[in-house]
Formats: sequence, structure tokens, C-alpha cells
Amino acid sequence: MSTTQQTWVPATMAATPRRQIEALAAELQSAIRGTVRAYEPMHRHTTFRIGGPAEVFVQPSDCDDLVEVADFARGKGVPCMVVGNGSNLLVGDRGIRGVVVRLAPRFNRIEWLEDGAVAEAGSLLSTLVKEASAAGLSGLESTVGIPGTLGGALATNAGTDTGSVGDLVRGAVVLGRDGELRDWSAEQFAYRYRYSTVSKEKAVVVSARLRLQPAAKEEIAAKVARLRHKRSSRQPLRARCAGSVFKNPRGVAAGKILDRAGAKGMRVGQAQISRKHANFLVNRGRATAAEMRELIERAHALALRRYGIELELEIEMVGE
Ligand SMILES: Cc1cc2nc3c(=O)[nH]c(=O)nc-3n(C[C@H](O)[C@H](O)[C@H](O)COP(=O)(O)OP(=O)(O)OC[C@H]3O[C@@H](n4cnc5c(N)ncnc54)[C@H](O)[C@@H]3O)c2cc1C
Repeated sequence: MSTTQQTWVPATMAATPRRQIEALAAELQSAIRGTVRAYEPMHRHTTFRIGGPAEVFVQPSDCDDLVEVADFARGKGVPCMVVGNGSNLLVGDRGIRGVVVRLAPRFNRIEWLEDGAVAEAGSLLSTLVKEASAAGLSGLESTVGIPGTLGGALATNAGTDTGSVGDLVRGAVVLGRDGELRDWSAEQFAYRYRYSTVSKEKAVVVSARLRLQPAAKEEIAAKVARLRHKRSSRQPLRARCAGSVFKNPRGVAAGKILDRAGAKGMRVGQAQISRKHANFLVNRGRATAAEMRELIERAHALALRRYGIELELEIEMVGE
């Protein structure tokens, strides 16, 4: 299977002793104002509702805290990753080693301007769409129904056939792997279909400046309602899922390929390919990451066998 989006690590190394992780979490807690928890179950923080524990789970309270956490992890030689709303992630059953940073629900300040907004990365897209509508600012409608944070959307260039978040970026404040906060221009993100350099460089978006157009509130509301209806008629939005599992190959929808190949309804344990949309894999209740991964591999093999098409992952597999 294509490994472009895959950071899944096989569980070969011995686990770090529990006491060591708890000591690490306590030391970090004494250095920041935000919250630190050891062995936080990641199924609580993913829309799949799947995932083992993050060894050290941090919710920094502000930017100083975030810089402190990054410095701490670097100083200890511990891996560190950021998550948004976990709506594009499949976390392994044995969890994630090192430090996992979640910006939401903090980092949620939004300042509305005449022609755009400055928003922190933990802001939910749903809040941005709602408030932009009320402020008479158009541009974010294409993200309606995407259950992510602004940071996650900027990292994945989330969007639909009507537009992507990357199209709206004027610039952003980004924390680099070296611990430095920098202003990025829109060009530095090098946006293309479901790709940005921020993700490749494992940098953290702290806030972003978005370009929006003043428009009549009724027009924006009508567009939002139309796109919401289109989405709910085609996608299993109430299910435990992570949106489209595979990227669309050029010129064709991955869902169509899988549908024609007869993938709808295929199951591995509690993991199932949605009967409503063949590119949505759903957790029917207590699916494990191993079951979901096995189902993904079967769907991938089916598309390859039937049509010679190598589907590439859109979701990201993280942890072990
Ligand atoms: C029902 C449903 C419908 C969906 N529909 C769509 C759709 O139409 N289009 C689409 O593109 N996606 C869709 N998705 C997928 C997902 O919602 C998007 O990819 C979303 O933008 C992910 O945001 P998140 O905050 O949940 O990020 P996460 O899933 O938590 O993380 C995704 C990636 O972003 C990184 N990241 C998170 N925050 C930051 C940050 N502050 N700085 C840097 N990197 C960060 C993470 O490290 C990870 O690599 C859908 C998902 C669901 C469940």
C-alpha cells in the first residue's frame, strides 16, 4: 500500500516503563499552565473513536506553553506530534509514543476583519463557517461539514470540489521543529490537493490569516445550506469515521472506484465500508485499529485487482 500518508510504526521496541512516563508527565506539568495527562486514550480524541493511549497528552494553554512543550520534548529526545480534532487519523491500538499535543479546545480565538479573519489553529471549522456567515464574509462555505480544526485543515489542505482551505490563506504563525515561531507566507505552504509543507515538515500552525470576501448574509447562508444538504445526502455523517479514507486519483472519485468494485458493506470485525459511501469506512461500535487497517488493505487490494488503480491514503495512520 502507498505509504505517503502513513506514519504507522510497528510495535517492535520495548515499551517505556510506566514510572518513567509518569515522571515525564509530572515534570512537564510543573513547567506549563496547560494540562498534562499520562496514558490518555486516543479513542476519546478521534472521530473514528479508535486508538490506544498517548504516553504523554498535553493541552497547552497558550503559545508560551506550546513552545515550552516543544522544547521539553526536544530536550528529552522524545517524539512529539500535534493533533487537531482527530478527524483524519487512525491511531494504532497500542497508542502513540512520546508527547501528543492537542491545541483544541483552547487556541480558539478568532478576530473578524472587513475582508477576512485571524484565527487560532484550535478553532473548529464549524465555528468559523457559522461566524463568517453571521459576519457576511464568504469563502469558508466549502468546508461546511468538515469536522476538523483550522490547524488540521491547514496541514491537510482540507476541502471539497468547491474549494480548499489553502486557497484562503494569507499567512500564518508557525512553530518549526527547531522551536522557533515564524511568519509563513501563503506560498510557503506550497498547497496542492490534500498537501502542505507544514505537514511534511511536522511544523505546528499556531494561527492563520484568512482572506474572505464580503457578501450578502442570505447568499452565504443559502450556499451553506445547499452544501450541507449535498453532504448529508451522500455521506454517513453520524457514523464513527474519518471522512474519505483514500484520495481521489486524478479525474475519478475513489468512492466510485470502490463502489463499482463492490466494496460497499465489506467488513472486518466491527470495521465496515459504508453502504452509503464506499470511501467512508466506519467503526460499527468497538472496531480496533487492526481491523480498520485490515479493511483498508482489502479495499486497496480490490481497487488494484479490479481496475489496476493504486489508491493512496488520505487519512493518516499514526502510532503503533
Ligand atoms: C464526516 C467527515 C467528513 C470529512 N470530510 C472531509 C472533506 O470533505 N474534505 C477533507 O479534506 N477532509 C474531510 N474530512 C477529514 C478531516 O475532517 C480533515 O482532514 C480535517 O481538516 C482534519 O482536521 P483535524 O483538526 O481533525 O486534524 P487531525 O485529524 O487531528 O490531524 C490531521 C493532520 O493535521 C496535523 N495537524 C493538526 N493540527 C495541526 C496544527 N495546528 N499544525 C500543524 N499540523 C496539525 C496532524 O498532525 C495530522 O497530521 C472529513 C472527516 C469526517 C469525519
